[in-house]
Amino acid sequence: MAVASPTCIICLHTQFNEYKGLLIKGRHICHKCERRIIVLNSDDPDYDYYKWGLKKIWDCPTNA
Ligand SMILES: [Zn+2]
Repeated sequence: MAVASPTCIICLHTQFNEYKGLLIKGRHICHKCERRIIVLNSDDPDYDYYKWGLKKIWDCPTNA
């Protein structure tokens, strides 16, 4: 699996400091989004945004 300039599938940023990102099914989630997701709950105004981002991971076949 080639890993070239990973892009966070949620915020689409490519800034991975020291590559502290999460890799799920070949999709990257940056550290910032990962931390956000951890504390996220359904009352959060950003919940739908992150849920949508995660859905892209689960719905996509793995072909990075
Ligand atoms: Zn991100």
